[in-house]
Amino acid sequence: MLYCFFRLPVFARWHSHITAICPAGGFFGTVRTLAEYIAFFIGEVMKSNLIISSSVRSIAQLSRLQGLPLQQKINLSQRRIQQFNIEQRGKVYVSFSGGKDSTVLLHLVRSMYPNTQAVFLDTGVEYPEIVSFVNKVENVITLRPKMAFKKVLETYGFPMVSKEVSQKIYEIQHTNSDKLRNKRLNGDQNGNGKLAEKWKYLISEDIKISHNCCNILKKTPAKKYEKESGNHPYIGDMAAESRLRKTNWLLNGCNSFKTQRPTSRPLSFWNETDIWKYITLNSLEVSDIYKTEARTGCMYCLFGCQFDDTDGARRFDRMKTTHPKHYAAAEKMGIISALNLIRPVPDSQAYFYFAET
Ligand code: SF4
Repeated sequence: MLYCFFRLPVFARWHSHITAICPAGGFFGTVRTLAEYIAFFIGEVMKSNLIISSSVRSIAQLSRLQGLPLQQKINLSQRRIQQFNIEQRGKVYVSFSGGKDSTVLLHLVRSMYPNTQAVFLDTGVEYPEIVSFVNKVENVITLRPKMAFKKVLETYGFPMVSKEVSQKIYEIQHTNSDKLRNKRLNGDQNGNGKLAEKWKYLISEDIKISHNCCNILKKTPAKKYEKESGNHPYIGDMAAESRLRKTNWLLNGCNSFKTQRPTSRPLSFWNETDIWKYITLNSLEVSDIYKTEARTGCMYCLFGCQFDDTDGARRFDRMKTTHPKHYAAAEKMGIISALNLIRPVPDSQAYFYFAET
């Protein structure tokens, strides 16, 4: 009750919004208003539950959620989806990459809200199997960046190793601040913020390195779309995938309303096995790329190229046979030469040294 009391100003604001939609009018207007009030109230109660649970969000809680049976995860995700939809008054979209996670997310969201818009960000370096799969899905808007990937490489530099490493190298090479350069080279008084020793050799290599690629190819077009449409995204991230995503869940939970960019990540507590199970249970079609690749994403990205696994350098070895024309284009753009700076010898025994960031 106390919570609802403090939410009264929001309730009042929302009331005036509804009144504007249904001007004082008659019995049917009143019925609709009542129905919307009820939906709003349910949403507020659900949110209060989330706020209570968010105050105790912890790794242990995440592990508990991650250990739930799939059906319970589906139920929980549906609640998060509904809550976000109500809070954003239906101004939502699904960020759809054409990969398996966002395919599951789109299916889940549309099973509740069939007309939800899907938005695909075509960076220009997507696997062709992804693009043709996305083209088969209904009600998808495709966004494209203003600058081509090749131009990003020429203008700013290659995205290499990780966003963090690329940013530090870029700052060392471009900053006018001696203080920042010194921090990136030697760390602050506590030794924090410096470029790891093992990557320092990249500073003097004859190659531009930068972290700007994602901002230009992905973030800027998405922000523009959100600003113009007023829609807020459902994203298919899972906390199990990276430290950053885990931290993000600990800070914001599945639905973040108070941040600059309200976002819903209703699959946060799922894992890859759940995704494949859901796909099988619902007989979902996925992109053909999964016949050869475990993961999707930009074909030429060199983030993670230091790892000798499916995400790393060997992806390019496979590309040579699965997508020879794309491999030739990568060679032409200097991608393979850049890769070889990280992987000087094509033998897993020889580059184990680089397997830790
Ligand atoms: S994932 Fe890699 S290639 Fe794709 S936009 Fe981001 S940095 Fe660029």
